[in-house]
Amino acid sequence: MAFMLWKGGDLDNFHQAWVDIWSMEVSPKVKHFLWRVCTNTLSVRGLLKHRHLSDDDTCPPGCGDVESQSHAIFGYPLLREIWFDSGCECFWNIANVGPMSEALVNMHGMDMGVRIKGAFLAWVLWNERNSLVFKDNITPPVILLERVNRLVEENGAYYKRIYPLWAPLANVNPHTWVAPPPRITKLNVDASLAIEGWVGLGVVVRDSAGIVLFAAICSVRSYWSAEIAEAKAIEMAIRFGKHYALQEIIVESDC
Ligand SMILES: [Zn+2]
Repeated sequence: MAFMLWKGGDLDNFHQAWVDIWSMEVSPKVKHFLWRVCTNTLSVRGLLKHRHLSDDDTCPPGCGDVESQSHAIFGYPLLREIWFDSGCECFWNIANVGPMSEALVNMHGMDMGVRIKGAFLAWVLWNERNSLVFKDNITPPVILLERVNRLVEENGAYYKRIYPLWAPLANVNPHTWVAPPPRITKLNVDASLAIEGWVGLGVVVRDSAGIVLFAAICSVRSYWSAEIAEAKAIEMAIRFGKHYALQEIIVESDC
């Protein structure tokens, strides 16, 4: 299981982005992809160089820019055309300002159909980028757009058949949250069973002043019951506490 850490930015946005992604009617692998986008963890060359895993941080198609995540999905000049041709240009406009989790919250008011299509387009463009990097293979934009349309269609049919309406996951209510005593760190955990076959686990770590130290989420392929998911979320929080050498912790379940 891979954790995605929230670093900097507004936590409310991060949490809202989490809720938004988990409530989107797209397949789990696309949700997982969106999370990686939101947490800035796609393995773009800029990130690999930053982590000293590579010397080359240049954009694979060779435009000369550093390959950041937003560059890989939105920034490369040809991509702008694809975004506009797809009818999802509002994504392109939003994604070019501020961090992705913020951008995602700005997408909150968008038509769900456009959001779903944009999610698939981003995913297809990322796969296309990988296909260029790893297989030296380029697909014409018109084929990519056809692929997106097909995925959206199949996804819609699948969702109608498989998933009934479900309640969004429980929100941590900041008004009822009680700060821990001094020197004690509080970890709030949350689990989502919204998608059959997947469990989303989240943890938010705050100090006694209510300052968020960090937050993380992960998705696990499993069929856990609500009780098991809650236990797993608590276990995750305890492992986090240990990993970050937190001295005294309180774990609170929002499940
Ligand atoms: Zn480029």
